[in-house]
Amino acid sequence: MYLGLSGGIGCGKSTVAKMLSDLGAVVIDADAIAKEVLEPGQIGYENVIHKFGDGVLDTSGNIDRKKLAELVFQDANQLAQLEDIVHPAVVARVAQIRESLPNTATVVYDTPLLVEKQLQNQFDRVLMVFADLDVRKQRLVDRGLEIGDIEARLANQVSDEQRVAVADFVIVNNGSLQELRDNVTKVWQQVSA
Ligand code: ATP
Repeated sequence: MYLGLSGGIGCGKSTVAKMLSDLGAVVIDADAIAKEVLEPGQIGYENVIHKFGDGVLDTSGNIDRKKLAELVFQDANQLAQLEDIVHPAVVARVAQIRESLPNTATVVYDTPLLVEKQLQNQFDRVLMVFADLDVRKQRLVDRGLEIGDIEARLANQVSDEQRVAVADFVIVNNGSLQELRDNVTKVWQQVSA
């Protein structure tokens, strides 16, 4: 079983992923993989230096993700070129991880960009997490994010309708962690059967 997990910023994706992992799922964190493929020795690292030059490195020789982000977010063409490096590297790494797992594993792919990148058809099932906007904002404030930063990120989100359209399971995470755990367990019972 390959389950796609997504939802808007601050809805509780990572919390759901952790709960699924506790129940026995193997969780693949898309953001973590995208970072990993840019580490020294990885294919994405070499390709980024080749494309963007060693000005994107910090003093220890690691890719300075902030510098890289500043460079590409001003220029759609450069952003597309970075995606052309990162995307295939992530796909290859995920394929490698999945090949190393037994067929019986329930694998969860946790990605904020499932809808944006139209990944839904890759999965056997899709689980979408929702929470009301004010709840999400409050949780992100509590986590230490700046309100301006939160508003800017929220302005860039796809609509709930687009998310529901690709979902097989929907969890609304406006309540307690126990309520969330109960709902996650119900989904787990269906995907791990
Ligand atoms: P991001 O989009 O930033 O990656 P996310 O969707 O992964 O966020 P989480 O990090 O899981 O969301 O949750 C956001 C914050 O809200 C975290 O601090 C988390 O501990 C908290 N949180 C999530 N669900 C609940 C809940 N039901 N009750 C209380 N706090 C919660």
